[in-house]
Amino acid sequence: MNSELDQRFMQLALEQARLAASAGEVPVGAVVVKDGQVIAVGRNAPVAAHDPTAHAEIAALRQAAQVLGNYRLDGCELFVTLEPCAMCSGAVLHARLDRVVYGATEPRTGAAGSVVNLFENTQLNHQTRVVGGVLAQECTDVLQQFFQQKRDAQALERKATHPLRDDALRTPETCFAGLPDYPWPPHYVSDLPALQGLRMHYVDVGPQDGSLTYLCLHGNPAWSYLYRKMIPVFAQAGCRVVAPDLIGFGKSDKPKRESAHSFTWHREVLLQLMERLDLQRIVLVVQDWGGLLGLTLPMAAPQRFAGLVVMNTALATGDAPLSPGFLAWREMCAKNPDFDIARLMARGNPQLSPPECAAYMAPFPDKGHRAATRAFPPMVPDHPRADGAALSQQARHFWQHDWRGKTVMAVGMQDPLLGWDSMQALRQTIRNCPEPLQMPDAGHFVQEQGVSIARAAVATF
Ligand SMILES: [Zn+2]
Repeated sequence: MNSELDQRFMQLALEQARLAASAGEVPVGAVVVKDGQVIAVGRNAPVAAHDPTAHAEIAALRQAAQVLGNYRLDGCELFVTLEPCAMCSGAVLHARLDRVVYGATEPRTGAAGSVVNLFENTQLNHQTRVVGGVLAQECTDVLQQFFQQKRDAQALERKATHPLRDDALRTPETCFAGLPDYPWPPHYVSDLPALQGLRMHYVDVGPQDGSLTYLCLHGNPAWSYLYRKMIPVFAQAGCRVVAPDLIGFGKSDKPKRESAHSFTWHREVLLQLMERLDLQRIVLVVQDWGGLLGLTLPMAAPQRFAGLVVMNTALATGDAPLSPGFLAWREMCAKNPDFDIARLMARGNPQLSPPECAAYMAPFPDKGHRAATRAFPPMVPDHPRADGAALSQQARHFWQHDWRGKTVMAVGMQDPLLGWDSMQALRQTIRNCPEPLQMPDAGHFVQEQGVSIARAAVATF
């Protein structure tokens, strides 16, 4: 037994293993040696060969037998990078090899000592000696590298294709074809921990290193389309604009079950998105649920925030009654859960064209896609122990005492839900909030007249 020679032959087996790896097979390689000469080589190939028996050892033994013209391989030695399985050990014994030398041990299937030891069984074996652990580290490395690369490739693939979860729906891209004034390419993320594989869409325009980042958050039943008039104003000012679609809305995935939605979860997703995109010098732009959720974000990372643009929204602290307008809305949604969103938009915004109204319906080709619009109205915290109420109370304290940024408040005066009265109340809770910009003709979806608001923001920040 010459261990230096063993290592040399094992190197040749390793070459075969590497060839297997580059063919996409689990990298195991083997050589058969007789009288100090390699007479046959083999590498693992079950995938390409559609052959469960195409192990490196079998391939090498078959070739050796062909070369010698004899099914008995007397005087031969087999070098293999991985401890042989039961099948290959059986073949070795049938072939009457003198010696088997292997590299790495195989704790799950090894039949030379790891799981069983067929070579110790005197009823089966009278002549084959076994040596393990030759170049074990190299042999293990080649396997581990292969599996690591495979895992990395799978992760990349998942990241690129964002496979759809079984319990969610994805609005077909064709539903969004040709929307008026919404030219921005989609950006997706699905690997935030809170998303658990759901694909979230966001608009991301303007320079990544812009002086400010406008983070625009929509509410129910809208999506980032609502910001199409404000985004260009922010971008033209040299700022980055990020406008996500909440899960269940817009181009983001839509869980089938209403119970998937909760205040805390949506907030967590937004916080993780903010961290992932590493948004800095944020001007938070919120309305409706964009504010219910968004106004609870800055206290979690105050150093990231520089400004606030707040429109027709509230902090749902659960310790004050919800507005009569909101209660009426919630009742309407409960009675008519699949209400016509395009008609809602047309009613509140007479200046909108029919294609613009239809664009608000685009994310929801059928009722199955509407779980979020059904889940959100009852999700508004309406008592102190409701999910999100405590967070909203903490946020109120933050805005009252700790907010150091500038604020622009704008109010759509025609909004029956979260109009002048609600916004007056909210203004009291925001430190240094100046006199609001009154939008006399605007309703709840005040962003539809948002150009002047965006300009006021650009002039302020
Ligand atoms: Zn095998």
